[in-house]
Amino acid sequence: MDTKLIAGLQDRIGSPKVLTDEETLRTRAHDYWVVANLRAWRGDALSLPGCVVRPGSVEDVQKTVQFANEHKVPLIPFGLGSGVCAGIAPDANVILLDMSALNKTRFIDETNLLAGFDAGMNGLEAEEAVAVQNLTIGHWPQSIALSSVGGWVSTRASGQFSTAYGNIEDIVYDIEAVLPNGDLVTLGKAPRAAAGPDLRHLLMGAEGTMGVITGVTLSLRQAPEKRSFSAFYASSMQAGFDMQRQLVQSDWRPPVMRQYDHPEVDRLFKEHVRGTDALLLIVHEGPANRLDLERDATERIAAKCGLAKANTMVCGQWLERRNHVPNWQELFEQTIIADTVEVSAKWTDIGAVYDATVASLKEVPSVVNASAHSSHVYQTGINLYFTFAALNDDPQEMEKIYFECWDRVMKATAKHGGGIAHHHGAGRLRKPYLPLDLGDSGVQLLRTVKNAVDPAGIMNPGNLVPD
Ligand SMILES: Cc1cc2nc3c(=O)[nH]c(=O)nc-3n(C[C@H](O)[C@H](O)[C@H](O)COP(=O)(O)OP(=O)(O)OC[C@H]3O[C@@H](n4cnc5c(N)ncnc54)[C@H](O)[C@@H]3O)c2cc1C
Repeated sequence: MDTKLIAGLQDRIGSPKVLTDEETLRTRAHDYWVVANLRAWRGDALSLPGCVVRPGSVEDVQKTVQFANEHKVPLIPFGLGSGVCAGIAPDANVILLDMSALNKTRFIDETNLLAGFDAGMNGLEAEEAVAVQNLTIGHWPQSIALSSVGGWVSTRASGQFSTAYGNIEDIVYDIEAVLPNGDLVTLGKAPRAAAGPDLRHLLMGAEGTMGVITGVTLSLRQAPEKRSFSAFYASSMQAGFDMQRQLVQSDWRPPVMRQYDHPEVDRLFKEHVRGTDALLLIVHEGPANRLDLERDATERIAAKCGLAKANTMVCGQWLERRNHVPNWQELFEQTIIADTVEVSAKWTDIGAVYDATVASLKEVPSVVNASAHSSHVYQTGINLYFTFAALNDDPQEMEKIYFECWDRVMKATAKHGGGIAHHHGAGRLRKPYLPLDLGDSGVQLLRTVKNAVDPAGIMNPGNLVPD
């Protein structure tokens, strides 16, 4: 980056907040996307940002965005870098806006059940801050310790307890953000509004393309009075989907319902394998009376659908291991390239999405695992979280196989009526597939909105919005 630009930025917000040392630039060169890690592991040259700005206040963010706008310099917000879809891919012209120092709890309001946080607040620390008062956000992504509340909103994240407590869009109360022209807005004032379109959704899922989120107010819940477990074997994925549909359509809402296909049971819960059955784990939470009724109803519906009881210890095992973070480098060393891809579909389509996608992945030479589990359930349908793994000792080939697998999941899902992205966002990875969800006119609408909000095109250019 031009040294005059760096000096100008330092003048604007203070030299200590503008970092150009190579060590800092390297830690902010990419997110957790598998291929970025593969390229770094095999020694490809890293594409580094021109500088890293670490704002200490909302005013610092405003000044940085205003500077970027005046000088037409691209700017990429960085939460905690746990994104998995290449939302962060800077080059030497980019100001990387590292939000991690904006990390305070602003307030906890026990009467209205709201808590305000700076956007860079670590998710687990946010949960711990409210837990002191016996409250919970109820948003538990597997990456809770690695991700920021601003990142959750920017990627439309989902937590493991979403079936009862909702996804991030159900939990967000208001969003404070700096728009690309430098204006500061707070979107969301009252519990509900009919004052035009809900503008919070311009920033939810925008992945840094529409502005910088500086603060988020989240709604809270009382910590649950009681927790209990159910577990069942299903002779097929479809049989388990049918049971889950009947349960939620009868208005029962266990927060966690996870159904693993046989290869995943074999890999993750070996001691619970039963033939080639799928395994459904359910965590119930809430007031004790309701819980007992919910468990009874669950057992009744499971029996009606032909599911057999499994040992509920498996639910405790899942709870213990649920936030495991894969180490990509260790897998590369073992010549394994792997990833997970989350999609969703209506009840009437999900069986076909599962069958077609697994079959398509298995056709890729050197794929040794193609499997899935479901983990987020709705009145209208359910998600699937595919895992693929391939063995290949050529690091260049690994990358080709990776893209081939992704392409197959995207196309098989869309062909059978599914939506191509459930909760990891789109980033640069899914960008070419966005027309499968939005259609060409929808993509054009997204582009029109982006151009109106960010006419200079400074906010995370190349991300999310198809070229
Ligand atoms: C092991 C693992 C498990 C995961 N499990 C889950 C899961 O269960 N559920 C789930 O939903 N996701 C999961 N993820 C994905 C990831 O954690 C989420 O997408 C998370 O919300 C990203 O937050 P972050 O702060 O790390 O964002 P980053 O990776 O830093 O950024 C993500 C995107 O948002 C933009 N962005 C970040 N902060 C801001 C801001 N303040 N303003 C504007 N734009 C911003 C960035 O430019 C980028 O495009 C997982 C990831 C890993 C590695």
